Amino acid sequence: MHELSLALEVLGLVTSEAAKNRVKVIHEIQIEIGKISGVESDVFQAALEISARNSILDNARIIIINSPGKGRCMSCSEEFDMEDLLALCPNCQHQPSEITGGRELKVLSMMAE
Ligand SMILES: [Zn+2]
Repeated sequence: MHELSLALEVLGLVTSEAAKNRVKVIHEIQIEIGKISGVESDVFQAALEISARNSILDNARIIIINSPGKGRCMSCSEEFDMEDLLALCPNCQHQPSEITGGRELKVLSMMAE
């Protein structure tokens, strides 16, 4: 369940940001989760909803945006979308040498008052 510890991390971050900006209520939060970040969006969202009870995120709408995984092939330099970490180059079936996107988990925006 590393989704739960990530959810608590995000909650801690949001809470301290809110305190810095004297925010009392957050209406909406957008979080980007990369497809190959190893984080299950549904599990993460549920974990965050549970963790958010009685916090500044209680009643906030939680919006998860999944960004696609991207890799660059080590033999032909093709860039392609990756469904998972073991995805192979569609061109030559090699493993990508470099993951160029889709591993992030970050807070994109918050709507607050
Ligand atoms: Zn290739």
